[in-house]
Amino acid sequence: MKIYEYQAKQFLARYGIKVQPGDVAETPDEAYRIAEQLGTEVVIKAQVHAGGRGKAGGIKLARTPEEAREKAEAILGMKIKDITVSKLLVLSAVDIESESYAGLVMDRRTKKPVFMVSPAGGIDIEQIARKTPEKILKYPVDPFFGLMPSKARELASFLYSDRQQVKRVMPILSGLYRMFIENDCSLAEINPLVVDKEGVFWAVDAKINLDDNGLSRHPEFEKLRDPEIEAPQERVARESNLSYVKLEGNIACCVNGAGLAMTTMDVIKYYGGEPANFLDIGGSSNPKKVVNALRIIKTDPNVEVILFNIFGGITRCDDVAEGLKEAILELNIGTPVVVRLTGTNEQEARKILSSMGIEVHTSMDEAVKCAVALVGKERR
Ligand code: GDP
Ligand code: MN
Repeated sequence: MKIYEYQAKQFLARYGIKVQPGDVAETPDEAYRIAEQLGTEVVIKAQVHAGGRGKAGGIKLARTPEEAREKAEAILGMKIKDITVSKLLVLSAVDIESESYAGLVMDRRTKKPVFMVSPAGGIDIEQIARKTPEKILKYPVDPFFGLMPSKARELASFLYSDRQQVKRVMPILSGLYRMFIENDCSLAEINPLVVDKEGVFWAVDAKINLDDNGLSRHPEFEKLRDPEIEAPQERVARESNLSYVKLEGNIACCVNGAGLAMTTMDVIKYYGGEPANFLDIGGSSNPKKVVNALRIIKTDPNVEVILFNIFGGITRCDDVAEGLKEAILELNIGTPVVVRLTGTNEQEARKILSSMGIEVHTSMDEAVKCAVALVGKERR
C-alpha cells in the first residue's frame, strides 16, 4: 500500500526524524490559512502517488499567504503522471544548504532490507544509479542484528565528510531503519534529506510503501488508505477475500488456487494471448465468491473473454458452476465464457453449465487455446 508524503512524514516524525511543520489543504483558501498560521515562506506540494512532482510543476515556493493561495490554485486540478491533484501539503520552506538521499528497500535476492545512501540527493536517484553508480552506497542489513552503530557510521561517512554532520545523521539512519522494520515497509526513502543553513537536518520529501502482506499486523494502517485512488476492482476483491491483480490483457481469468492461476497466465501467454488479470477465488467452495469474481471482471472494459480454470479438490466444481450460472443471470454477462473444469463433482457441474449452453473442457490446454482463438490472436 502506498501512502502520501504527509502520511509518510508522520511515520518519520515518530522516529525522531525532523519534518517541516504544516498541514494538508484541499482548497486555495485552506492553503492561505495554513501559510498565514505558519508565518514563514512556505512550500506547496501536490500529494499524489508519483515521484518527480517537482519537475512536473507540482511543487512551488510561496513567500506570502496570497502567493500560497495563487500557487495552490495552480497546482490543484493539475495532472501529474495521469493523476489529478486534489490534496496539497503546505509546509514551512527549508533554506537548503545540501541535499542527500537515504532509502531502504526489501531486496528479494539477498532477502534483506538494503540501505542505500547517496550524497547526490534531490534529483532522480534512478538516473544516478544508472550513470554514476559509485555515488551510491548499498548495504544489505542483516535483520537479525539490525543496523549496527558501526555500519550507521560508515553510511553516514559516505554522505558527509564533516564530523558533526556524520554524528547528526546517524540517528536519522537508525530511525529510518527501525521505522522500516517495525511498520513492515517494503520501501522507505528520504529524498532529499536536507541540511539547512543552520546545519539542521530535515526530511524534505518522504516516500513509504507498506507491505500489503504485513497489513494484518497493523489494523490501524487501514485508515491511511485513500479509497478514491484504489482501483474499484481491487476494493471489491479485498472486501470479498479474493486475490485479484489487474493486468493489461483481454482474457480474464478465474481460477482456484494461486499456483494454478499463475500457470493459467503462463499458458495464455504461451498461446499468444494476454491475461487481463490474476484472480484466485481460493480453495473453498462458495458460489458467492464466483459471483463477486465476475462482478470484478465485469468492470474491466478490456475483457473480451472470460476463462475459468477449476481443478476441483476441496473446491467443488458444481459450486463454481452454480456461482457462474448465478452471475451470468444476475450480472447480465454477455462476454463469452470458456470453462475448463475437472475433479470433485465434475459431472454435476457439466449438467448445470450445459443447460446454460456453456461448453466445458477437461484439458487446460484446449480451454486456453479456445479462449485465445476467441480474441483472435492465436499463436501460429
Ligand atoms: P519530488 O519532485 O516529487 O521528489 O518532490 P520533493 O519534495 O523531493 O521536491 C523536489 C525538489 O523541490 C527538492 O529536491 C528541492 O530542491 C525542492 N524543494 C522541496 N521542498 C523545498 C523547500 O522546503 N525549500 C526549498 N528551497 N526547496 C524545496
Ligand atoms: Mn523527492
